[in-house]
Amino acid sequence: MIRLLDKQTADKIAAGEVVERPVSVVKELIENSIDAGASAIAVEIRKGGKEYIRITDDGCGIHREEVSLAFRRHATSKIVRASDLDSIDTLGFRGEALASIAAVSRVRMVTKTADESTGTLCVIEGSEEADVSQTGADTGTTIVVRDLFYNTPARRKFLKSDSAEANQIIELVSQMALCYPFIRFRMINGGNTLFTTPGKGDTLSAIYTIYGKTTGNCLVKAEKSENDMHIMAYVSNTGESRNSRKSQVFFVNGRVVKGKVMDSAVKLAYSERLFPGRFPIVFMFLYVNPETVDVNIHPNKKEVRFDDEKLVENFISEAIKEALRTEDAVPQIKYNAESVKTYKPKPAPVKENNTVPVVSVKEQPKQEQVNIKELLKTKREELKIRENPAPVVSAGPSKPFIFSELNILGTLFSTYIVGFREDAFYLIDQHAAHERVFYEKLMNEFESSEKHRQSLLIPSMFDIPASSEGTGWEEILNCMGFTVEPFGGRSYRMTEIPAFMKIGEAEEFVRDFVSEIEHDTDIKSRRILDLIASKACKAAVKGGRTLHESEIDALISELDRCENPYSCPHGRPTYVRFSRNQIERMFRRA
Ligand code: ADP
Ligand code: MG
Repeated sequence: MIRLLDKQTADKIAAGEVVERPVSVVKELIENSIDAGASAIAVEIRKGGKEYIRITDDGCGIHREEVSLAFRRHATSKIVRASDLDSIDTLGFRGEALASIAAVSRVRMVTKTADESTGTLCVIEGSEEADVSQTGADTGTTIVVRDLFYNTPARRKFLKSDSAEANQIIELVSQMALCYPFIRFRMINGGNTLFTTPGKGDTLSAIYTIYGKTTGNCLVKAEKSENDMHIMAYVSNTGESRNSRKSQVFFVNGRVVKGKVMDSAVKLAYSERLFPGRFPIVFMFLYVNPETVDVNIHPNKKEVRFDDEKLVENFISEAIKEALRTEDAVPQIKYNAESVKTYKPKPAPVKENNTVPVVSVKEQPKQEQVNIKELLKTKREELKIRENPAPVVSAGPSKPFIFSELNILGTLFSTYIVGFREDAFYLIDQHAAHERVFYEKLMNEFESSEKHRQSLLIPSMFDIPASSEGTGWEEILNCMGFTVEPFGGRSYRMTEIPAFMKIGEAEEFVRDFVSEIEHDTDIKSRRILDLIASKACKAAVKGGRTLHESEIDALISELDRCENPYSCPHGRPTYVRFSRNQIERMFRRA
């Protein structure tokens, strides 16, 4: 028997088309707010939107007489006749969203137009007739949607966890906020405000507020117009990258899309600039002649098709390449901790009057080694050392000691590099020297705005002790050029290490570094950080290996580049000097 379905059943079935999950409700309601000319939109959700969704806007509002109509199927203010379909400039036009939402939830709407003195409250549950009354309100509209799918339990069962549903909503609102930078978007989840964009029209500010400083700081702007196409994009400089495409958002003519054209254009632009398996951050806004693109209107299919795919691909990749060639693309990752602001760059090393430890047969150079760094720290210390010169100190060479001026003879006991120059011969402790070089490179990396990272083919896993949790160690390691990601519990995955390190060194360093940190360790304090880092460097650098000639050469020239090459970070001397005179005395020649 053929029957006409009753209104409620028909509405519920139709609702399935529009309202699939909480994020579809949010999308429809935000689109309505945008169509209503809102300049501020607040989105609040609880329990992934299953229990509560609120959208508040300051748009034009709905007249009291029209409020119930708005909830009727095919009720829209946006088109009147079929021919209007060709010239739609609003996001919605089918007149289905409100009716569909009301069919599967409990809706309360408060709305007021600018010319009304009081607002309208409209309560509607499961497609029942709307209950309309007067209420006080500001101009604009607030819609609260509760208990989504309360009357369609089968649909409710298909929803994901609260956090998974919430994530979809947050992602959608983030993307909407980027696409409409002139609208102030506020996102509240479970009572917490996640972000409020400035709404001043600046896309980059919106990116900063939503995605944070680390992302915002590394972005370069790309902009190009050609052949009826315009692109504006923010892309990461080569100092920052991700291990998935998750940080790439593409908008074509104002809609979020996916597509292989964009993927390959980005890949092309970054080829030879990023290690394989790394992906840049991309926020791309592409505008093309609507006649040359097919953006599937279905909300869940975001695939986009262009008439001339190669043309679009080249256009995008050229625009990004041009941006990456600019000076702005020089990586600028800044460390922002309080303590570092007050940390002044060390003065240029005073290598003159530098006291090279001179070995006399009886006295061994122990604490007498003058630590240049200490010397430069404060004037008082400087004076103290000048007034009480260390007792072994003879009138040392007045010109800076240059390690690469030594004639290297080889190594001794797999520990000391032997070299001579003019009237002296030298033993360089390769382990101490390496420790010094390693430490200075690390701390330079830490201070530098440009990070040199290398990707690990196979990420390295490590665990942190409970005591280092929540101390901010990840941020410090990141500033040193490591990339570590949480891997559940106290396990972490290291995917990138500073370019100058070997894998083994990096692993030793990180393991030692995190184990040195206690709950109450203030690693933002530069003094404490120096201490911990120097200890961890010691663990990282292995001694007791015969160096190849090329390794010796490299170490020697790296020592010359050090600010304080004269001692290891713990104050052990990196080298000792035997003068010809001393040697002659040992042989009773002098
Ligand atoms: P559509 O957006 O396709 O027109 P909807 O069911 O989403 O259909 O909305 C129906 C009508 O209700 C809209 O055409 C609009 O006139 C009105 N409306 C809905 N939401 C708002 C809002 N936030 N502010 C002002 N008017 C609104
Ligand atoms: Mg709509």
